Amino acid sequence: MSEKTAGELLKEKLFYVRKNTSVTMSDADIDKAYDFCEGYKEFLNAAKTEREAVDAAIELLSQNGYSELIPGTRYLPGDKVYFNNRGKALLFATIGKKPIEYGVKIAASHVDSPRLDLKPNPMYEDTDMALFKTHYYGGIKKYQWTTVALALHGVVAKKDGSIVKVSIGENADDPVFCVTDLLPHLAQEQSKRTLADGIRGEELNILIGSRAFKDDKASEKVKLNILNILYEKYGFTEEDFLSADLTFVPAEKARDVGFDRSMIGSYGHDDRVCAYTSMMAAIDADSPEFTTVTVLSDREEIGSYGNTGLDSDYMKNFIADLCEPHGADVRKVLSNSKCLSADVNCALDPSFPDVSERRNASLLGYGVVVTKYTGSRGKSGTSEASAEFMAEIREMLDSADVIWQLGELGKVDLGGGGTVALYIAALDVDVVDVGVPVLSMHSPFEVVSKTDVYMTYRAFFEFLK
Ligand code: MN
Ligand code: MN
Repeated sequence: MSEKTAGELLKEKLFYVRKNTSVTMSDADIDKAYDFCEGYKEFLNAAKTEREAVDAAIELLSQNGYSELIPGTRYLPGDKVYFNNRGKALLFATIGKKPIEYGVKIAASHVDSPRLDLKPNPMYEDTDMALFKTHYYGGIKKYQWTTVALALHGVVAKKDGSIVKVSIGENADDPVFCVTDLLPHLAQEQSKRTLADGIRGEELNILIGSRAFKDDKASEKVKLNILNILYEKYGFTEEDFLSADLTFVPAEKARDVGFDRSMIGSYGHDDRVCAYTSMMAAIDADSPEFTTVTVLSDREEIGSYGNTGLDSDYMKNFIADLCEPHGADVRKVLSNSKCLSADVNCALDPSFPDVSERRNASLLGYGVVVTKYTGSRGKSGTSEASAEFMAEIREMLDSADVIWQLGELGKVDLGGGGTVALYIAALDVDVVDVGVPVLSMHSPFEVVSKTDVYMTYRAFFEFLK
C-alpha cells in the first residue's frame, strides 16, 4: 500500500465524512445488531397499536423489576417505577445516583402510528356486502392502504364498564379485512385524479362480510349476520361501536428484507423503533448517574394533542411526582434536564432523490440520525437544538464509537414535519431529535436497517447510563 499524500492526510483531518455501518462495524458487532433486532421484530408484531405497545412494555418492565409509581413515595437510587397513562401512553423512570435536582435524562418516543380508525357508527350494507366506514389517523398516502390485508385491533368499552379487547387478523387462521380498489380496466377516470386524490377518505371503506343471515323478511341481512357473529363472540351490539377505539392496521408481520437480511420491513417502525431501542437502553442502564425518564407517548401522529399526547401535562406531572417527596422544585429539575426526542427521520430514497438534499439527508445504513431541527418553511414548528447541546451529543456518541449521522426532513420548502421535541423544549428542557432513518415512512411496510436500529439503541444507552 502506498503512503498517504499530505493532501489525503489533511483531508482525513479536516473533512466531515459519514461512516457506513456495515463497512465500519466488525462482523461480530453486525451479528450482535441482527440478534438485537430479533427482539425488536417480536415487539413490532406484539404491539401494533399504542395500547398494545403499552401492554407489551409493562410486561417487559415488570420482568425487569419495575413497579407502578406510588405518588408520595420517596424513591431512592436504583428504584424503578412506571406510570400507565390511560393504557395509551407510558412513562417509566430509573432513579439515578445524583439527586433529582441535577435534572433528569429523558428519552421520548411515540407508540401511535398512522392507520385507519373506525368511525363511531361504522357499519353498513351495500350491494349485499357489509362494510365499515373509517377515518384515517395520521398522515397517510391513502392509495397505499387499498388491497392490502388489514387486521382489526382495539377495544370496545361497554356501558357496564367492561372492556372488550379485539385483535382479529394476526393469527395465521384468522380472517383479514381490506379496502377494495378499481380494476385497471375501468380506472381511466380514477387515473386522471391526482395521486393525493386517487383514493379519497370516504372511499377507505373496509370489506367485512358478504354472507346473508337466513331469513326471508329481515332487511340488511349481511350486516345482520355480521352483528350476530360479533354478538355471539364478543357480546356487543351496533350501539357499542359508539364507545370504541377500533382501528385497522396492516396484518403483515415484520419481515427481514433483502438477500442479505440487512433490513426489516414492517408496519409501525415510526415510532416503535425508537420506543423499543430507548426502552431496552433504559432497562439496561440500571444504575444511571441521573434519573432516567423514558416516555412512550401517544397522539404524536396527529400533533400530540389530547391527554395521552405530549402537548398535555402528563410527563411534567410524573416528574413532579418523583420530585415532591425530595422537596425538589419540578421547574428547576426540568430546566436542568436533557432530552433525546426519539423519532425516525426520512432516509434518502434512491428512487426519489430529488426531495432530499444529499449533504444533509440521512442515509440508510449510516447509523443513528441526530437531527438539529425539523419543521417546515423557515424552520417553523420546530425546537432547534442549540450548538452547545449538539456539541455535547457529538462528544457523547463519538467517545463511545456510536456510528451516527446528521439528518434533515427533506429539501428546504418541499414539505417537512415535526416531533414531540417542541413540547418538551416548551418545559425548559434541552432537546435534540435522535432516531432511525426510515424508507417508505407512514406506509403499511416501512423499512429500516438493522445496524441503524442497533446504533440507535447504543446512542440511547450512552445518554441514559
Ligand atoms: Mn414519528
Ligand atoms: Mn410519523
